[in-house]
Amino acid sequence: VTAVAPARFDSALEALRTVFGYDAFRGEQAEIIDHVAGGGDAVVLMPTGGGKSLCYQIPALLREGTGIVVSPLIALMHDQVDALVRNGVRAAYLNSSQAPAERADVERRYLAGELDLLYVAPERLNTESTLQLIGRGRIALFAIDEAHCVSQWGHDFRPDYLALSGLAERWPDVPRIALTATATDATHRELTERLSLGGARHFVASFDRPNIQYRIAPKSEVRKQLLDFIRTEGRDADGRPVSGIVYALSRASTERFADFLRQNGVDAVAYHAGLDADVRRRAQERFLREDGVVVVATIAFGMGIDKPDVRFVAHIDLPKSVEGYYQETGRAGRDGLPATTWLAYGLQDVVQQRRMIDESPGDLAFRRRLSAHLDAMLALCETVSCRRQNLLGYFGQPSEPCGNCDTCLVPPASWDGTVASQKLMSTIVRLQRERNQRFGAGQLVDILRGKQTPRVEQHGHDRLATFGIGQDLSDAEWRGVVRQLLAQGLLQSVGEYGVLTLTDASAEVLSGERTVALRKEPDRPVRSSSRRSA
Ligand code: ADP
Ligand code: ZN
Repeated sequence: VTAVAPARFDSALEALRTVFGYDAFRGEQAEIIDHVAGGGDAVVLMPTGGGKSLCYQIPALLREGTGIVVSPLIALMHDQVDALVRNGVRAAYLNSSQAPAERADVERRYLAGELDLLYVAPERLNTESTLQLIGRGRIALFAIDEAHCVSQWGHDFRPDYLALSGLAERWPDVPRIALTATATDATHRELTERLSLGGARHFVASFDRPNIQYRIAPKSEVRKQLLDFIRTEGRDADGRPVSGIVYALSRASTERFADFLRQNGVDAVAYHAGLDADVRRRAQERFLREDGVVVVATIAFGMGIDKPDVRFVAHIDLPKSVEGYYQETGRAGRDGLPATTWLAYGLQDVVQQRRMIDESPGDLAFRRRLSAHLDAMLALCETVSCRRQNLLGYFGQPSEPCGNCDTCLVPPASWDGTVASQKLMSTIVRLQRERNQRFGAGQLVDILRGKQTPRVEQHGHDRLATFGIGQDLSDAEWRGVVRQLLAQGLLQSVGEYGVLTLTDASAEVLSGERTVALRKEPDRPVRSSSRRSA
């Protein structure tokens, strides 16, 4: 015998106050909830921290039956459900990590109409047995969280999401709401189409996070830079340490940097998926409950973690996409108070990521997609205009310069790098034509600067016509030139050793048809004096 979970509340506001203890809806929450509770389909684009969860949780409480929530973050289901249960919501989940007895109990409660919300992993929802199970109960709505995962061009594609369009065919009368915090125009269109949400109403919130200050700096001595950053940004007005997250690409570097910070008096803990579950949990607990803990983590950290007063997010490696960068930096300042984000990136990041793309197992289309993501990220790093404007523009939202990012606060000078680019490019051409050799940035800079290193002598590079023609720029400036040319697609880095070669566009620079504007490396850091409230 199956039964139907009754509607728990008459009005959305009553549910908001009684269950969640909040006074008022934020942004478009009320409209979204009304629309879905009334049986409409919705596509919701809202930044992290915007309050997406209530947009499906409350309609599920207002409608008869159980809201089915598709979420890819299995690791978080347990916590999400726990939090709901603490608020008196009858919630449970089904995923592959469960023991059979536990699963059977959830199934029984669902069929008995004892659940308001049921979280389901996407791969579960692709099995006929699960579909039949939910078909035997009453479905209040389908919520598809992290809906950008259906986009093959997005940064987080999950094949299991593709089958979710089947829900519309099977249950045409059940309202569906798709939600995501990362949506460019292209992803937005793609998810609408792939999830058969052509008839849905679209709610697009502003992606601006005005209280976040964005800073991006060229990497020189990253340890010292990070420590300087934490020493200036890591304290509140009373001098007490604040909570922050430092993102690194590799597990090993999270541990190295956490050690380094601890040795320098910062209360830092490492976090990555390779650590013991216990160690991880302890790190997370400390971060959540204590003030002033800095977590040095891979991007595995932060998803679903709801800590409103993270005061800074630092990246010591280049994120792979603007979407990822936006999502990770978005974990700062969810309470609306001023927060700072800082990214250090260098030539090595570009070379390393190009190599990872070259070596990735996907097909050509897949590698092109990764490349396009990296290019957009590099363009954000090298922009001479407002970071926020660039970021919002990427998400299809026009805006004015913000006055609260590093390029607004200390406008970078640009300089005519055409001649420098020609010197570098002709060195590459000569090495290739005259010697059939290819080298990475280090050797090229040594040649341009006219350094008599053992490697220069060994190869006789001091006999090249371009030897020593670049003494007007420093090593760091030359590396900046290389990095920016890579970012602009005027050079490419190939293979394991990051040897540099020309691109089709380089020819226009060499022939003088095209000029190259470069960003001057900043010589003074941006300070936090600009902190202002939202
Ligand atoms: P998202 O999923 O969009 O990242 P969440 O749904 O996790 O955001 O909400 C972020 C935080 O904001 C949570 O702590 C949530 O409880 C809180 N929140 C959401 N809506 C409201 C509201 N109307 N009033 C106050 N706090 C809210
Ligand atoms: Zn700006």
